[in-house]
Amino acid sequence: MENADIGLIGLGTMGSNLSLNIAEKGHRIAVFNRTRSRTDDFMANAGELRDRIVPCYSIADLAAAIRPPRPVIVMVQAGKPVDEQIELLKPVLSEGDIIIDAGNANFHDTVRRFSELAGTGLTFIGMGVSGGEEGARHGPSIMVGGTRESHARVEDVLTAISAKYEGEPCCAWLGEGGAGHFVKTIHNGIEYADMQMIAEIYGVLRDGFGMEPKAIGDVFATWNKGRLNSYLIEITAKVLAADDPKTGKPVVEIILDRAGQKGTGRWSVIEAQTLGIPATAIEAAVAARVISGMKDERLAAEKVYGGPGRITSYGALIPDLELALFAGKIAAYAQGFAVMAGASKEFGWGLPLATIAKIWRAGCIIRSQFLGTLAAAFEESASAPNLLMAPAFIEMMKEAHPALRRVVARAMEAGLPMPALSSALAYFDGYRQGRGTSNLIQAQRDFFGAHGFERIDAEGAHHGPWGN
Ligand code: NDP
Repeated sequence: MENADIGLIGLGTMGSNLSLNIAEKGHRIAVFNRTRSRTDDFMANAGELRDRIVPCYSIADLAAAIRPPRPVIVMVQAGKPVDEQIELLKPVLSEGDIIIDAGNANFHDTVRRFSELAGTGLTFIGMGVSGGEEGARHGPSIMVGGTRESHARVEDVLTAISAKYEGEPCCAWLGEGGAGHFVKTIHNGIEYADMQMIAEIYGVLRDGFGMEPKAIGDVFATWNKGRLNSYLIEITAKVLAADDPKTGKPVVEIILDRAGQKGTGRWSVIEAQTLGIPATAIEAAVAARVISGMKDERLAAEKVYGGPGRITSYGALIPDLELALFAGKIAAYAQGFAVMAGASKEFGWGLPLATIAKIWRAGCIIRSQFLGTLAAAFEESASAPNLLMAPAFIEMMKEAHPALRRVVARAMEAGLPMPALSSALAYFDGYRQGRGTSNLIQAQRDFFGAHGFERIDAEGAHHGPWGN
């Protein structure tokens, strides 16, 4: 019975919702899950969409249920489980079939899988999917990496299930090989920075100003109507307004301040470092999650050093917080996009930066109106070396950075941690300083290691008069 348009392995949170989305858009889908009961539960809850879903209880049955050439989405835990599924698929698939890894793969694994499948007759797509459970069900942002030909074969299904922004699908082919998974990784890195900067502003409002969660939620809800309008600001307002059914207290107050992470933030930082491109706001956000995990040590240190203090006479600072967050956001996105531009050059992908900003406007976790401005900036000033030098962003940053400076200064005085916002500010200040201080570093390096330095008034390598 070869009648499904596509197959999917892994009916977890993402896979089950993606399958329902595919079925809802009119495509027949064959599904398989390692644990049989999950397939049964999924079918029992599929409602009227079950007519378009073929439950399979072996990989061979799954392959048999799909019309060749067969595209099979693998939506299992990233890492070894993906390799295991590929090994199981190889004997049951044939020439021209496509294995699509839609999990959060490390792009190095994706590149390896491409080369391991070369010569087998099978093709591979490394596909980043963002939007969580809700996105998977009703429209995620989809970042495709692979050959143009293999993308063309699944484009209609992917376009149908993706989020739409004013009618435009948030799904695009971004380049060969690991391009899709690389872009998804950086998306998540930016997401880390975005979330951390929001949390830092929450910290100022809670600990610096002594505001209650609901009042803070109102501030974020107001900001969501302005330049910060975004999914993350929207859900922050909602989260802060919610009460815990068990205790009746604001739910944020009973949540332990220890953040989890699954690795994509760290991968972003590693890739940025490897490429030699500063992504300090993302680095700070990843480090902040690590510090958040050191709960016992933090409690002990607070006993020794004391915690943060209050910010007094803060009235004038409240409007600054919105602008400060906006300035931090600009710097963080400038860094994330610079990393993608660097990777594009390094790996020869030709990443379409404006398109990436466009397909993040809906469906994904960092969706925001800001991304529309960003896409326009890349379209208008494709040659700008950094987002900070795109004309539209120059104007916005000129307006916003003084507020970021005031907020960081007051927070630092009070001892409120602001790792992402302060590093975003330091990045901006370093970037806009024509004459930096690395002349001294070069002198030190030459002093202890005879590494040589360039002169401002002559070509070539030179050494200093150190006399050592
Ligand atoms: P879940 O934990 O909900 O589901 C995991 C799925 O993987 C299950 O179907 C499980 O099968 C299967 N699985 C795990 N290990 C194996 C294995 N060794 N062999 C076969 N199947 C296995 O995960 P998610 O749906 O949340 O995530 C799936 C992928 O999507 C991950 O790469 C994740 O990083 C990525 N992702 C997740 C997002 C999210 O918001 N949750 C957002 C974007 C991407 P079984 O039932 O047998 O255990």
